[in-house]
Amino acid sequence: MDLNGIGFSNIRLPNDSSSYIYTYNSYINTFPEEVFIHEYLHSLERILKERNYNIPALHDNNLYGYTEQRLVGLKDWYQDYMTCNIDAGNGKKIGLDEIVYTLTPPAESDFEYAIDVEFSKEPQNIIEEIKNFFKAV
Ligand SMILES: [Zn+2]
Repeated sequence: MDLNGIGFSNIRLPNDSSSYIYTYNSYINTFPEEVFIHEYLHSLERILKERNYNIPALHDNNLYGYTEQRLVGLKDWYQDYMTCNIDAGNGKKIGLDEIVYTLTPPAESDFEYAIDVEFSKEPQNIIEEIKNFFKAV
């Protein structure tokens, strides 16, 4: 997820421990941990794209012949994406450059217009959301 163009992956989980999302159900949540892997890979994708690496987009699995599979979802795609083992069709393998695993997480100084986001105070309605937006700018 991209938050107003400032580059966050955000996963929201309900506080209610009886929520169905915490139950493994092979008919509904085929690969529940996939959402965490997916959003984390977006972060790595962004790190390399900002450094002008030519890598496949995380959502382009279909272009390279990877489709969602029962029980494991896009596990093969994520594995090959992370290990730079996607067949580019020209005898080359593509995916995340391994340098991404040596880069440190970004610091506040890496952003030109860094602003603090108060995650504990999430807006409850559209009016608060708009107010918060203008407060932050
Ligand atoms: Zn995505």
